[in-house]
Amino acid sequence: MKKHELPPLPYSYDALEPYYEERTLRLHHDAHHKAYVDGLNNAEAKLAEAREKGDYALVKHWERELAFHGSGHILHSIFWTNMKPGGGGPPDGSIAQRIKTDFGDFETFKAQFSAAAAAVEGSGWALLCWNPFFKKLEILTAEKHQDLTQWGVCPLLVLDVWEHAYYLQYQNKRAAFIEAWWNLVNWEDVNRRFASCPESCCGNC
Ligand code: MN
Repeated sequence: MKKHELPPLPYSYDALEPYYEERTLRLHHDAHHKAYVDGLNNAEAKLAEAREKGDYALVKHWERELAFHGSGHILHSIFWTNMKPGGGGPPDGSIAQRIKTDFGDFETFKAQFSAAAAAVEGSGWALLCWNPFFKKLEILTAEKHQDLTQWGVCPLLVLDVWEHAYYLQYQNKRAAFIEAWWNLVNWEDVNRRFASCPESCCGNC
């Protein structure tokens, strides 16, 4: 079975300073993201073993592990490329147009996204997603990596608000981390992801 691998950061560990300091970023990527990759590989291996043996006694546990670690791996992989040195500012291109259509203007979108990120209870994420069923952008939050989402959305811009994402640098000031993070947003990457999403989904809703 092909194993998942930890993708390298697309910039050096100190490239996002001062908004995201090296030691926080290094620990986040090398230790936390790596743990989700390992957990995903393990869950897939255990499920393969269960199929081989025809023994599904622990299937509920391993399906949950698959959802948790798989979602963690996907979201972190997006999170790294959603940032770049010298990022931030308002978006351009088709995502800028679509934000205007679905949220009115960028500042309104930013206010809702920041508030949603600040309000996540415990560990989780704020996400800008394309919903191909409803054919519109939506802001969603996730608790842990996988709870409270909708089916079939395409995540475009994600912000990790687990304490492990910011505590070393920002201590308990999550709102300060969120405000700093806007200076790193890589809108080219968000546009690239938006262009690769299916425009609609063959649902009837
Ligand atoms: Mn994280």
